[in-house]
Amino acid sequence: MAKIELVGVQKDYGHGRKAVRAVHELEYTIEDGAFVSLLGPSGCGKSTTLNMIAGLEEITSGEILIDGERVDDLPPDKRDLAFVFQDYALYPHMSVRENIAFGLRMRKVDKPEIERRVADAARRLEISRVLDNRPRNLSGGQRQRVALARAIARRPKVFLFDEPLSNLDAMLRDQTRSELKLLHAELGATSVYVTHDQEEAMTLSDRIAVMSHGRLEQYGTPEEIYHQP
Ligand code: ADP
Ligand code: ADP
Repeated sequence: MAKIELVGVQKDYGHGRKAVRAVHELEYTIEDGAFVSLLGPSGCGKSTTLNMIAGLEEITSGEILIDGERVDDLPPDKRDLAFVFQDYALYPHMSVRENIAFGLRMRKVDKPEIERRVADAARRLEISRVLDNRPRNLSGGQRQRVALARAIARRPKVFLFDEPLSNLDAMLRDQTRSELKLLHAELGATSVYVTHDQEEAMTLSDRIAVMSHGRLEQYGTPEEIYHQP
């Protein structure tokens, strides 16, 4: 479980006269165990925000705290979060099993524990039968399940998702969305989910951060945002 606080967060790309402000003065708190969507059109600063939470992108000013610790003070191997990308980012030369286990091996989790976690994640995502396959031999939907299994096996306190369903066809997207919701309920970790799809944000989230032109426009429950009188 983890609380994420954004305090006066800004992001400029480039320097000096060429600097472009991608994110302006973000100020909100993501509560422990919440599922929060960052929603808005392409270019509004969602991925930039997510990448700053992940510590993958430098924060120009302000700070992001996870359980009171600045993300930029933590070395990458101490950041207790898992990132699921739009393009899955699986290692092509590794089997599914090795893909899921890789991050755990890097973190020196012992071998029997890795095996247990891989088996558990594979069971939850129904990919146990393809554990010895290479990613290229899987369908798009299966690859996305492997990416999700890899994140789950890490058992992080924070999950970060960047449009993880956008490369799936409509039916698979709906199905995977329902599964994500169940997984979140079961695992209880804090999740931050980037999407430009309003329906996706509404069905998945406890809170929605609506962004526009790099700014936070609204922050509230789906009901507060879409059912105002
Ligand atoms: P979104 O995820 O909502 O599509 P992004 O966070 O990717 O938005 O982008 C926000 C703004 O920052 C856009 O104007 C984009 O072009 C710009 N931007 C994003 N990444 C970079 C980068 N690495 N260098 C320069 N500009 C960038
Ligand atoms: P998304 O909308 O999903 O964030 P984009 O296609 O906007 O994806 O961006 C893909 C990658 O390109 C990201 O890593 C982003 O940081 C980078 N990027 C986006 N805009 C720019 C830009 N103007 N200059 C350089 N890199 C950029």
